[in-house]
Amino acid sequence: MLYFDNAATTPVTEASLTAAWPYLTTEFGNASSSHEYGHRAKQGLEDARARVATWFGAKSSDIIFTSGGTEGINMCLTGLALANPRGKHIISARTEHEAVIATLEFLERVHGFEITWLPTNTSGTIEPLELESALRDDTTLVTLMLANNEIGTIHPIAEFAALAHARGALIHTDAVQACGWVNSNVADLGVDALTIAGHKLGAPKGSGAVFIKGRVATEPILHGGGQEFDRRSGTENVAWAVALATALEHLPRGEQLVQQSQKLADLQKVFIERVTNELPHTRLTGPPAGDPLARHAGISSFVSEGINGETLLLELERRGVIASSGAACAAGQDEPSHVLIALGYPEDLARTAIRLSASHLATEADYETVATAFIESVHTITR
Ligand code: PLP
Repeated sequence: MLYFDNAATTPVTEASLTAAWPYLTTEFGNASSSHEYGHRAKQGLEDARARVATWFGAKSSDIIFTSGGTEGINMCLTGLALANPRGKHIISARTEHEAVIATLEFLERVHGFEITWLPTNTSGTIEPLELESALRDDTTLVTLMLANNEIGTIHPIAEFAALAHARGALIHTDAVQACGWVNSNVADLGVDALTIAGHKLGAPKGSGAVFIKGRVATEPILHGGGQEFDRRSGTENVAWAVALATALEHLPRGEQLVQQSQKLADLQKVFIERVTNELPHTRLTGPPAGDPLARHAGISSFVSEGINGETLLLELERRGVIASSGAACAAGQDEPSHVLIALGYPEDLARTAIRLSASHLATEADYETVATAFIESVHTITR
């Protein structure tokens, strides 16, 4: 089987689990306890925090461990919005993950915030000018994702951050899909808050972290014992914090990231060209392939006129390729992708979406196998 659904989740790396193991067994103490077991767990936690901070170019005190992307996004958006009442205006886009959209709708419904949803072009790109003109004196927060989980669009977050800050607003970015694929250094991005999820990058499900710049106030969403600098109460999951730090350190950064993402973008481009050349009714969603600064080098999503997405998935699986229809996070719902609808795709076409998401280890041969399986599957269905 070829697993091409890494945007849904990734396997846990051996290094990550091996590093976590002692904190599940011998070093099982509660990091808040004041005996030796507690001290050792605390040491493991703070060491993991420092490693995560180093990876993101942040300070240790700006890293808070969470249970994953959804929690991190809820924490950042609700926390920043409620604690920074410059006004009750927030800016985002309808192409964001449901965790962002639903949290903003909650802030609108329960706390009276007004949300401006920025328009995108058909590739999911947002013009900086659109953000600039939407910013107001009462804008508290801008939240725009670094890389889109369905169509792979990468936003120029550093540029957005400069615009937000020029008007005194804070900016959060959802880097759940971007981390390891797009530069996620917080100083380079210039963001006030950023969210990641461990299970997208080789750490276990239920692990994650957020970066929140130290001087920025947040209102906690979990109240209790005051752990994690009073920002996220609850007994700390030391093992998963250590697993996350270890998984991050195995991801490319800096020059290695530039080279690796270009190499993967080149492989992806050849794959996309073959699929779209051989299947006249299939087209790529999101930005064109080949530029890893504009498109996530692992996520390729297609729509195919007249083809049922679920049938195509089954055909792919029969040929040994595992993919997903639209976004797996919304799996179980027979709804067309909200991202494609936001881009103006007709419902019928949006329902045909298939997402193939590679790992960093994808090879030319893997892509050839996937392309052949895809093309044969479409031919079988349309025959
Ligand atoms: N944000 C993005 C871009 C995602 O792709 C996902 C999950 O697919 C999430 C947020 C939610 O993360 P989690 O599944 O860890 O809650």
